[in-house]
Amino acid sequence: MGDIVKREPNEELAGALVALRDRELECERLTTELAETNRGVLALYAELDTRATELARVSQLKSAFLSGISHELRTPLNSIINISRILLARLDGELTPEQELQVEMMRRSAEALIELVNDLLDLARIEAGKIEVRVGPFAVGELFGTLRGMFRPLVTSDALELTFEPPVPEIELVSDEAKVSQILRNFISNAIKFTERGEIRVSAEPAEDDRVSFAVRDTGIGIAPDDQRRIFQEFEQVEHALQRRTAGTGLGLPLSRKLAALLGGDIELTSAVGAGSRFTLRVPRLYHATPALAVTERGEGYAGA
Ligand code: ADP
Repeated sequence: MGDIVKREPNEELAGALVALRDRELECERLTTELAETNRGVLALYAELDTRATELARVSQLKSAFLSGISHELRTPLNSIINISRILLARLDGELTPEQELQVEMMRRSAEALIELVNDLLDLARIEAGKIEVRVGPFAVGELFGTLRGMFRPLVTSDALELTFEPPVPEIELVSDEAKVSQILRNFISNAIKFTERGEIRVSAEPAEDDRVSFAVRDTGIGIAPDDQRRIFQEFEQVEHALQRRTAGTGLGLPLSRKLAALLGGDIELTSAVGAGSRFTLRVPRLYHATPALAVTERGEGYAGA
């Protein structure tokens, strides 16, 4: 009896030792595996780091290249524009009707190019984080007055009306007026380009969270749901007969979207083919630093009002 009692614990012990050894081996195997995984992860991190540095360098180079090119292009383009203006003003003598057409074409092409260069330069500056937000107080009524002065002469057709609806009561913002104006100018010039008849209405109203909602509505060709997201990407334009007749870079909306984000705002589009489009810019009434990046593009559902 005594023997049995003695042997059992020994056997148990031996069994436990074997199990322990097995576990030790398993542990060793796991440790080796873990060490290998760790080394792998570290190598991946190192690679990611290298890639991130490379990407940052490429992005910096791209911005430097773009702004270099843009500066180099702007000077000669401005010369072409100025000289063609001098020629068109007949300061250097009379032009034949054919020469007038040719110089006018030169001037228009150079202006289109400089617009492209300016947009590229702005995009490069934003990407490089080098664009400044110049904050100051301004009233919507006055901004609309300036825009009205700029755009009224451009609406030459009797079939099209451009109306500004200054808010009552007046809305005062503390933000970057030049950037708000740049975004609205882009919306309005697009609306003029893509609306043959009807009206374009520019309005502003207070929105939730102490924001101001600016809207540019048109009764133009409209934008199909599939194209509504696309046109906010660089160089994207929608194929249309009107498109071929108008100059454009396909950079206005991506730039507007980035400018809006810079102001802590967003852009919303509602449109339906044939019915018209409504571009809405919402910005905080009082600019505050560290704006959130937010862009919304809604599909169908043009309300028309
Ligand atoms: P651009 O006007 O220089 O081509 P944008 O980025 O401002 O560049 O606009 C991109 C495209 O979006 C336009 O070419 C046009 O196809 C479409 N689009 C913009 N605004 C309107 C609008 N109000 N109505 C119809 N299409 C528009």
